[in-house]
Amino acid sequence: MHKHTGNLFILSAPSGAGKSSLYKALLKADDKVRISISHTTRAPRAGEEHGREYYFIDDESFLDMIAEDAFFEHAQVFDHYYGTSKETIFGMLEQGLDVILEIDWQGARQVRQLYPEAVGIFILPPSLSSLEERLKKRATDTEDVIQRRMAKAVNEMSHYHEYDFVIVNDDFDTALAEMSSIFMAMRAKTPVMQQKYGNLINDLLSL
Ligand code: 5GP
Repeated sequence: MHKHTGNLFILSAPSGAGKSSLYKALLKADDKVRISISHTTRAPRAGEEHGREYYFIDDESFLDMIAEDAFFEHAQVFDHYYGTSKETIFGMLEQGLDVILEIDWQGARQVRQLYPEAVGIFILPPSLSSLEERLKKRATDTEDVIQRRMAKAVNEMSHYHEYDFVIVNDDFDTALAEMSSIFMAMRAKTPVMQQKYGNLINDLLSL
């Protein structure tokens, strides 16, 4: 048991399930929730900002951080490094904030090894056709490209059972309420409350 008060959440979904709209709405509605921002060595894309989508750093700084054991986890994806720094997540957890890691099922497996108390939430779309609809955003994509994205999505979804909670994102407000209740329920777990209300519990039992 770590001594942090906040909970670490792993949020996964196939692309097209509406994951980012859901967590963005949760971040707005709940001031105790934060999203983890990764470090990367890739260049920012148009519209991306340092400290918002990622912390954009150069290879040398990234390698220095690896050498300093500054990463909770890191990986090389294509030609670039990506990683979640310990400071990013533990700094927030120690303040009692809940932290969301937005990662795929492979990253989720690694995080569970490193931090077994992490709470996994998987978001499913309400149907295959709605998923396809959302993956067809660009009219220029060929049928082949879309089918490849669908296959990738189905592969991601096949890991839903590795998660503690599953949300079907049919009605957005319902899905948001479900996600919010999971966060609230985790805050009321007995070990969390013992830590948060230790003095009160001592008082109440001291008669
Ligand atoms: P992109 O460059 O398109 O933003 O992300 C490329 C890939 O890197 C995505 O699959 C994304 O999930 C992954 N990625 C982003 N941040 C991290 C991280 O902190 N750790 C790991 N292991 N992968 C990440």
